[in-house]
Parts: sequence; C-alpha cells; structure tokens
Amino acid sequence: MKRDKSIFTEAVHADQDISANHGALSVPIYNASVFAFNDSDQAAAVHNFEEPGYFYGRLGNPTRSALESAVAKLEQAESGLAFASGMAAISAAILSIARSGDHIVALKSMYSTSSNFLKYAAEFLDIGVTFIDATESENYRGAIRPNTRIFWIETPSNPLLNITDVETVAEIARENGIVTVADNTFASPYNQLPVTQGVDLVVHSATKYLGGHSDLSAGVLAGSKQLIEKIFSKGVKLFGGAVAPEVAWLVLRGIKTLALRMKQHGDNAYALAHMLDSHPKVKAVYYPGLPAHKNHEVAKRQMKSFGGMVSFAVSGETEAKTLLNNLRICSIATSLGGVETIVQHSASMTHATFTQEERESAGITDGLIRMSVGIEDKEDLIADIESALEKI
Ligand code: PLP
Repeated sequence: MKRDKSIFTEAVHADQDISANHGALSVPIYNASVFAFNDSDQAAAVHNFEEPGYFYGRLGNPTRSALESAVAKLEQAESGLAFASGMAAISAAILSIARSGDHIVALKSMYSTSSNFLKYAAEFLDIGVTFIDATESENYRGAIRPNTRIFWIETPSNPLLNITDVETVAEIARENGIVTVADNTFASPYNQLPVTQGVDLVVHSATKYLGGHSDLSAGVLAGSKQLIEKIFSKGVKLFGGAVAPEVAWLVLRGIKTLALRMKQHGDNAYALAHMLDSHPKVKAVYYPGLPAHKNHEVAKRQMKSFGGMVSFAVSGETEAKTLLNNLRICSIATSLGGVETIVQHSASMTHATFTQEERESAGITDGLIRMSVGIEDKEDLIADIESALEKI
C-alpha cells in the first residue's frame, strides 16, 4: 500500500481545508439546502456545473463535499460521492453503470442485501447476475459473457471473511473491458486500498468503520472523476439518496480516529480468532489472519492487517443462540464496525432472507456467529466469550 503519509496522519487531516472554513479545525455543518447567487449569470453557471459551487442540497453541500474528498483521499481515488446509506451507494453505483441487458458477476457468499439487490435487478430490470465462488479468481473469468459489465468484489466478505485476490480479478476485468467494484466496508482504507490494486470503484457502508460509533447511516463511493461524475448524474441527481450534512459531519469526525480504531479492532480480532481456533467447542473459525485460512497468503499481500471481523461456528443453532444469550460485554446486534463488540447469529439475522439452500451454498451454517470485534480490552473480551462457551 503506497501513501505519501501514514494513514494515522491522513485520517486526522483528510478533511482539512482550513482556508475554506475560516481556520476551523472541524469542518462546519452547513445546514443549508438552498444557496443564492450574486447574479443570474453565476446562477446559470453553477446550475450547469460550469463553475464550482452549490445550489441545492440534494446535489451538493460543503460538509458533504468535505466527506467526499476525505474518503477519496484515504482511498487514493480521484473523487468521492456520499449517500444516505451503504445500500443507497450500492444501488446507485450498479444502476448507473449497468443497464438492462447487461450482466454482473458477483459473490455467492456476500452481504445479503447487496446480493438481494442483484437478484432484484435480475428479476425486475433484466440485468443478469452470476454468483461465483470468489475465492478463486479464475471463476470471475469463467463467468464472463459478452454482455458482462461489472465484477462485484467484497473482500473480506460478509459474513465468512472470504478473501478475493483483488489485483488478479481487476486484471481479468481490464482485459475484458469490465468495470470492477469493490466493497471495502470490512477492510476500510486502513487495511486495504483497492483502487491502487486496479479496482475502478470502491464502495463503503460508512455506517460501519468509517463512522465507527454505531450512531449513523451513510455510504460513500470513491473512484475516478469520470466514473463518479457518471454516478452523480444518475445515482444522486435522479435517485436522490444524498447524505444529510449532519451525518456527513459525524462520518468526518469518525474518520479522524479511523486508524487508531482499526489498529485496536485488528489486534483484538487477531487475539480472539486465535483463542477461538484452539477452543474445543468451536467447530470452525473464519478469519484471514489464521494461517489455515484458504487465502491467508493473498490477505497478507493485499491487506495491512486482517481487520476486526471474526466469524466462527459452534455445533448448531441452539448452541449459537445459547452462546449469544450468555455474553455480558458483547451485544447481540446486526451491524458492525462500531467501537463496541457485537455478535450476531447470521442464519436467523442478516442472512435470514437467504433460503436454506442459498445459505448452505454460501457456507453459512446454522451454528455460525459473526463477531464485530470492538476496541475494548482483549482480555475482557476473551473472558466474556470463554465464559459463554462454557454454557453450551
Ligand atoms: N456492504 C457491506 C459489506 C455491509 O455489511 C453492509 C451492511 O451491513 C452494507 C454494504 C450496506 O450498508 P448500509 O446498511 O449502510 O446500507
């Protein structure tokens, strides 16, 4: 990963344009949805994007711009685009790039709502989709059709922490004129920079690590100026899922501590994954930092550390739920990426919308627990989980 400065420095300063904000170290929240002009020529020029400026909240706001440029900087991309949720960003990206008659290659095992959105696009919008095992890069090549428009990448994937070789898949895409989109929510720009590995567009649920405090919903895209402008003209202008200035500001505040948090999330997850791996009641551990993980070597090459997510399986649904019900520090909740440790039973929560057959094919067993490891003390977390494991 190449950066001019360390991410510990860049995360703190990514949003700063002191000259634009009267020296304010925290970007102000511009609670404005309407912007007036000095004269009609200026009004026309800004409305037609011939001059920089703001005119209407859905189409731009200085606080939102600060977030967009901060994420672009952290992702080493030319431009960013912020939305009201990760799904607003994802749906806008897909519907701005692909049209009816196109085809998308995506992962068999991925975030359930992204997957469900692709199934919706296939059923109602005539956008074909092929779901593959994305742990083998060649499966992307094998799924290409003459009308393939997008390779969807999610690495590490939700909830099984599968790893896709980003550089190789991006290379296959380039050879075939296909746009690559990588969901970088799990890794965050602390751990992984898909744009520097050849990916065209990065997607974030900023609800997760970028925000970092379980207190907001937002999404961000980062990519080339040309691609972002294309998505802006449809995905923001027509679909309208823009982020509110207050929320953009909360994400910006979260980003300042992103590197610190990610380091602690990663250290804690590493310790927990190793404890779970040697525990007799744990049937499987899914964590790219374990040498036995199928793509451990790929993860080592493309990630700075292995992130804060760990999934593991106990023998069945009853045991998984008993474990969850006996945790004292870790909360049972569906999201991830916040400072607090949260756990969920994937089969009955995030992936309940998958059929049993789809879950089996994606490797999501009834005993699977997904854990978003927080920034608490790792010994306290280990003690909490060990004591709950004793109850099953
Ligand atoms: N991408 C991933 C990997 C996710 O885990 C999620 C949500 O859990 C999303 C996208 C969607 O983001 P949001 O809930 O902010 O719409």
